[in-house]
Parts: sequence; structure tokens; C-alpha cells
Amino acid sequence: MSVTEKLTSFKKQLPPTVQLVVVSKTQPASTILEAYQTGQRQFGENKVQELLAKYEQLPKDIEWHLIGHLQTNKVKYIAPFVNLIQSVDSLKLLQEIDKQAGKNNRIIHCLLQIYIANEETKFGLSFEEAQTLVNSEEFRLLKNIRLTGLMGIASNTGNQQQIRNEFHSLKKFLNQLQTTHPSISILSMGMSSDYKIAIEEGSTLIRVGSTIFGERPKLQSQQQ
Ligand SMILES: *Cc1c(COP(=O)(O)O)cnc(C)c1O
Repeated sequence: MSVTEKLTSFKKQLPPTVQLVVVSKTQPASTILEAYQTGQRQFGENKVQELLAKYEQLPKDIEWHLIGHLQTNKVKYIAPFVNLIQSVDSLKLLQEIDKQAGKNNRIIHCLLQIYIANEETKFGLSFEEAQTLVNSEEFRLLKNIRLTGLMGIASNTGNQQQIRNEFHSLKKFLNQLQTTHPSISILSMGMSSDYKIAIEEGSTLIRVGSTIFGERPKLQSQQQ
């Protein structure tokens, strides 16, 4: 099946309430263009350099999401055009995004990445840290960002119940945050291996790559 066919049939089975972000990391611009031509506009990349290169080459009405770890010193490169930064994992990063958004006369939408997996991974806030962040005076002062939701990555495990529990805990936390911050409403969870469980557990946005493009080559320099 071609990318066009896979993407078209994949979209057909999604509930209308769930947004699809096509994860295009490692894919060449020509392949992304194929997906674009089916009407897909939201694409996700996990590296700033790669995102910049693709932004230059591809149509300007693509909505680019950053889904990988972002260093504060690289925010300035993507601030002019990025649509949603899904991987915010500190107040310091949020403050830098706010500053760069201001310089570009933009409001940048952000998600907090929450650590829900039961395994060693470097990035993401705990529920407590995220709660403290949104309650802080520093957060209240930010004018050029809009915190619109949460993102989580479940454990890389065959244990479906564990994955379900992790997604469930994130949905519960979102509900709790919404009692004081109703505008935090996007729940980004689910990738190729677990999007069905994620949707059952309340996901409103899934990030899917290999189901549409096929397996990525496993290069040593790549994290995923
Ligand atoms: C790579 C990646 C995905 C997509 O993974 P697939 O298994 O190819 O669907 C989703 N989210 C993040 C954060 C990623 O890095």
C-alpha cells in the first residue's frame, strides 16, 4: 500500500474527536508531501534541525508540532513558525518559549510533557511538578504562550493493562487540572503501538508514524 492509501484508510477508522498528528521524523520531504496531498496538515518532528530543514522545503500551511526534547537555546529557531510544542518539560523552557514568541509577535501553543512510563526516561514532569508549575506566579505572568494540554508516552511494554493504567492516570490528572484551568484540554497520547488504548482512555490527539510510513530504519544516532 502507498502512503496515500495507508493514511486514508487509517483516518477512516479514527473517531472524529481525535486529531491525528503524522510523525514524519526520518521521512524525506517527498514522502511528507504525499501525505500532505491527502489533506493531512499536522506533522510532528522530534529534532529541531530536521524540523527546520523540512519547514524550508515544504508548503507553508503545514502545522508543525515539535514532539521531542527541546533545549532552551534552540527555541529561537522554531519560534517563528512552530504550531504546537508538545514536549515542554520545565518552567524555564516555557519562559524561553514565551520570550521568543513575544519577539515574533506570536502566541505559541504548548503542551506539558508528563512522565507516565514506568521506565528510565530522561524527560517529562511528574504530576506534582506539573501542578506546581501551573499554580505558580511565574506561569501566570507568561503572556505569549498558551498552555492547551498535556502529552504523555506510555511504557514500551507488551503489557496492555500497564499501558492502559498509565494513560488512565494522565486522563485523571487532566480532569483534575481542568477544575482550575479549563483551557488545558488537549490530551496527546497514543502512537502506532498503543493509539487504540489511548483513544479508549480519552486521548484527543494521537501521534502516529510507522503505521503510516512503515518501520523507521533503526540508526544508532536515533533515540526512537
Ligand atoms: C516517534 C514518536 C512517535 C511515533 O511513533 P510511531 O511508533 O512511529 O507511531 C510518537 N511520539 C513521539 C514523542 C515520538 O518520538
